[in-house]
Amino acid sequence: MDLDAVKHRMAEEIDRRADLLLDVSHRIHAEPELNFEEHHAHDLLCDLLEREGLATERRAHGLDTAFVATAGTSGPTVAVCLEYDALPGIGHACGHNIIAAAGLGAGLAAAAVADTCGGRVAIVGTPAEEGGGGKVLQIRAGAFAGVDAAMMVHPAGADLRGMDTVAIHRCLATYRGESAHAAAAPERGRNALDAAVLGYVNVAALRQHIGPAERIHGVFTEGGDKPNIVPSRAQMEWYVRSPTVAGLQVLKERVIACLEAGATASGCDLELDWLEPPYADMVPVQTFCDLYVANAAALGREVLAPDPDNRVVGSTDMGDVSYEVPSIHPMIQAADPGTAIHTEAFAAFAAGPLGDRAVVDGAKAMAWTVADLWMQPGLLDAITAEHREQVAARR
Ligand SMILES: [Zn+2]
Ligand SMILES: [Zn+2]
Repeated sequence: MDLDAVKHRMAEEIDRRADLLLDVSHRIHAEPELNFEEHHAHDLLCDLLEREGLATERRAHGLDTAFVATAGTSGPTVAVCLEYDALPGIGHACGHNIIAAAGLGAGLAAAAVADTCGGRVAIVGTPAEEGGGGKVLQIRAGAFAGVDAAMMVHPAGADLRGMDTVAIHRCLATYRGESAHAAAAPERGRNALDAAVLGYVNVAALRQHIGPAERIHGVFTEGGDKPNIVPSRAQMEWYVRSPTVAGLQVLKERVIACLEAGATASGCDLELDWLEPPYADMVPVQTFCDLYVANAAALGREVLAPDPDNRVVGSTDMGDVSYEVPSIHPMIQAADPGTAIHTEAFAAFAAGPLGDRAVVDGAKAMAWTVADLWMQPGLLDAITAEHREQVAARR
């Protein structure tokens, strides 16, 4: 079979299962599950993969709601990542039900032709993207060892080549001082709230001298109990973001210096608790992304480069995967233009006609991209080389 025939066959495999894929999307949407609690989605997807005859490992990589299903016996391995976690309060407002159903469709279409094409596919269920860092934990457990390339689509209000990702690390800063009667014996006190306020002001000054795409945001979560007691404890939560993980390391050191200076000035102690795991930025691999863009174009979708008026800014644990293996994370239109993810409006679109179209088109565009990687001579080598260069440039 030549590449065109393979792609035609893959589209048939997806069209034949369109009702099934939309049912999966709607059922996951109707039962939103939070980080690491996605048992319904895990079981639903694993049951289907097993029924389709794929070797499926449930509760993979040491996580109760991760899985991996594989097909193909030789050749390069392409991973399709399926997210299925939801947000507290607003359900599938990030549309991960679409990611799961589109990835399932792409994976099953690839599995149907894997041996014909001489390729392997891994359908990887990746829980807890919304703050849990499921993929970071899966990488540590070896989930992407032996994988040559990885992909997913993420729904949005537009078709875009990617998300404008930033690396992020979150931190709890706890200051401890000495309590004292604020009026009777203030000289005995060491004011932890003062320490926190000074630290905050230092970071505010730092903000003027950081990169244009870097962000530092903090809130006070504890600041004393009563004005007549010198606060012995104060706490802040900080988000530190930078375009790359390497830049994030440097920025974190500067933030730490600001926060420590507050403790020094007020005679208090500071404890920093960096909340694991941090999320890396996405390493761009244009040659790889071009394949997806061309395949989406064949479905009538014009996939644009993000610009300041048309982009999605955020962080994703797919960034960490992108440092391990060449990866793409294109955005697929599943809502009216301008609809932001993480809103109730987006949650409604995620189970509506635009969301459904994104499931079927996303499945095809990804499946065809898998076929390109498997069958176009030299392509995967070129992508691997570009990826290596990009990672080196970011270190
Ligand atoms: Zn999200
Ligand atoms: Zn998301």
